Amino acid sequence: MSELQKTLADSAEFEGVGIHTGVRSRIVVKPADEDRGLVFESGGTLIPALCDYVISTKRSTVLGREGASISTVEHLLAALSGLGISNALIEADGPEIPILDGSAEIFCRRFQAAGIKAQSKRTEEFYLAEPIFVSSEDSLVLAMPCPDLILEGDVRYASPQVGHQNFKCCGFDNFAGELAPARTFGFWAEVKTLLEAGLGQGGDLSNALIFDRPGFDASLLRFSNEPVRHKVLDLTGDLALLGRPLRAHVLAVRAGHRLHVEFVRKLAKVMIKDA
Ligand SMILES: [Zn+2]
Repeated sequence: MSELQKTLADSAEFEGVGIHTGVRSRIVVKPADEDRGLVFESGGTLIPALCDYVISTKRSTVLGREGASISTVEHLLAALSGLGISNALIEADGPEIPILDGSAEIFCRRFQAAGIKAQSKRTEEFYLAEPIFVSSEDSLVLAMPCPDLILEGDVRYASPQVGHQNFKCCGFDNFAGELAPARTFGFWAEVKTLLEAGLGQGGDLSNALIFDRPGFDASLLRFSNEPVRHKVLDLTGDLALLGRPLRAHVLAVRAGHRLHVEFVRKLAKVMIKDA
């Protein structure tokens, strides 16, 4: 049987800079009624956390509606989704969700501290009937029918500090321990270019792992395969844009936000057809 819908027992607040804009934002995540889903509010405009409202996937997932927008929603959505929170109102007073430590750990801890309460209605899980996939060049997101949610990430980078990594998680029972703490990462050559382009304004060594950086200390990694775990965390956040919990085995190979969202849009079409 499906699970009960959940919301927060109390509000949770976060404040900090956005990694891409460098602008400070304050957000308040509030309890919401059953069937409301996850909804952002920016300047009085409600923006549902659904793939229909994605306006950009360049470097992060950006939602927008009627001129209002909110960037870098993926880690916050991953924390809500990973903890099974189906309904919440996220009020944002700035253009971008704070990056905090680059992971979903702070969101996760604060939601757990605020309390998560079950509501009376049940969730409607979406079970995939047939395999579906999207691909682009050497990247792929593939989902196969499965009674449970299995998320598997696979990455391969030229940097010897990362190389080939694979990580698979079965459900979110240990979301707080195995996925939430994995931080955003980048590579020194790319970070220099980003800074020259005026992006990554809020990025620093406290909120992103920068591989190949002179003086990089591998002993500070939270997991030996922290990058691929972060990719699975990003996938978790982007999958929340389906608006219903997915039950499938999803394999993401060298994928990023653009392909994740393309995949969710394809899933959403199948879901509507099956309804
Ligand atoms: Zn991320």
